Amino acid sequence: MRAPDGTYVVRLLLPPGFVPAEALRAVADLAERYGSGRVHLTVRQTIEIHGVRPERLRDLLRELRERGLEPGSTGPRVRQITCCPGADACPNALDRTVPLARRLHEEFADVWVPAKVKIAVAGCPRGCTRPEDNDVGVLGLGNDRWRVLVGGVALGDRSGEEEVVETIERVLLWYARTAPMDERLKDLAAREAERLQEELGVDDG
Ligand code: SF4
Repeated sequence: MRAPDGTYVVRLLLPPGFVPAEALRAVADLAERYGSGRVHLTVRQTIEIHGVRPERLRDLLRELRERGLEPGSTGPRVRQITCCPGADACPNALDRTVPLARRLHEEFADVWVPAKVKIAVAGCPRGCTRPEDNDVGVLGLGNDRWRVLVGGVALGDRSGEEEVVETIERVLLWYARTAPMDERLKDLAAREAERLQEELGVDDG
């Protein structure tokens, strides 16, 4: 992504949940050597290295990958998946969020879609990651049961990681088949809620 001053912003695609200290040290080092020495912590829980001069971009991308970091989360793709810390840290949590969010990251992050798709996981119905405002939201209900929402449209509850993954895969396939260019999944789902629920075999959400 190009900034108004002609430098590049390099956004990372991070495994959701927790960032190891070693990765943070690598980002700090690379930001000092290739960028302006500053990073931006995004609302979607990733990191951007700012102020990269065009002639240094290729070397930065190479070194990022050598150090186990991936650029991404831009354009018409499944973006950085967000999650709250869930039962690994929050006393209100009903489920662990990080393993599920990481599985969704492995399955779907950076997959090409008609327009950007944002996925958020929350460990209880308080929904601190605002699942209802994302294209796909997953809410922990306890005992590994999860409520899946698409653009706020309820698709019913799922039991276990596999069922959540399968549901989201079917939603993304429906989206890829159905959406006009550039239409966000959440807008399509709001417009075509009944068709989406029919596709997923949901009667009443
Ligand atoms: S959504 Fe629930 S589990 Fe997650 S941080 Fe908020 S209160 Fe805690």
